[in-house]
Amino acid sequence: MKLPRWLLIGLCIGVIAKAAAAGLQVSEVAKDTWIVQGAAALGTPGNRNFISNAGFIVTDDGVVVIDALGSPAMASELLAEIRRVTQQPLRYVIVTHYHADHIYGLQVFKAAGATLLAHVAARLYLNSETAQQRLQASRKELAPWIDEKTQLVPADQWLDADETRLRVGSVDLVIRHVGPAHTPEDLVVFVPQTGVLFAGDLFFRGRVPFVGQADSRLWIKSLDRMIEFKPGLVIPGHGPVSTDPMADLQLTRDYLLYLRRKMGEAARNMEPFEDAYASTDWTRFEALPLFRAANRMNAYNTYLLMEQQELDK
Ligand SMILES: [Zn+2]
Repeated sequence: MKLPRWLLIGLCIGVIAKAAAAGLQVSEVAKDTWIVQGAAALGTPGNRNFISNAGFIVTDDGVVVIDALGSPAMASELLAEIRRVTQQPLRYVIVTHYHADHIYGLQVFKAAGATLLAHVAARLYLNSETAQQRLQASRKELAPWIDEKTQLVPADQWLDADETRLRVGSVDLVIRHVGPAHTPEDLVVFVPQTGVLFAGDLFFRGRVPFVGQADSRLWIKSLDRMIEFKPGLVIPGHGPVSTDPMADLQLTRDYLLYLRRKMGEAARNMEPFEDAYASTDWTRFEALPLFRAANRMNAYNTYLLMEQQELDK
């Protein structure tokens, strides 16, 4: 079958438009509240380190962005998307924490006139050798998207209060320090008018979290501080938004508590990890996504943590 030339051209343009949009798609998840969702992957040159989420809130007196994505190129794309939604000026970027995949885009927003806000506890990391080494490594691993021009950008205002209230236009924002947990500087942003909570990397939806080296006691505390808001919608640092966040928050909390209780008992009784793991009843959690990938390591890390706490007593 031979297609008319005009139709072919139309099809090609359609494909190109779709391909261009495939990198970054904004969606409005609540009134005047937009997000982009990064790939569920590690950062690579192929995905331009677009592996985390960012959001923005449009007010009648400017735009507030939450997190800056993982490369200047992605931040520029986000900025272009913001410009398609609104002509309001950029007011603030709030940084939930200074992990590479959330901050390498900061310089773009700074240049566009935004005031950068972050918690003061990030300063220690930002001025550290580790942060510089990480950037050097990223310049190799994520070239050409992270290059010599990519900088670690400090906040314009370092927040040191437990809670900071910000009113932009007619929108109230509650910026709460819930760290140290994932990082010392963990911030979450709550918008009372919409019930939306931007939770950074402390929130996992309907799945077993990766505990890693995090201190689960501190993490539980920060979950409690998020539950206090009674959010109706949570935007995590990675993965899809949660429309049933109280259940998700409670699930993560229960899981961490259970790990601590079971592994704590084993550590106290000096029971070897293998035996303790095998004799623990995991039925409540084993149907959850990522149980197989994460549970054993989570339990082991918690066992080591509880063992250390026993020794410290
Ligand atoms: Zn992180």
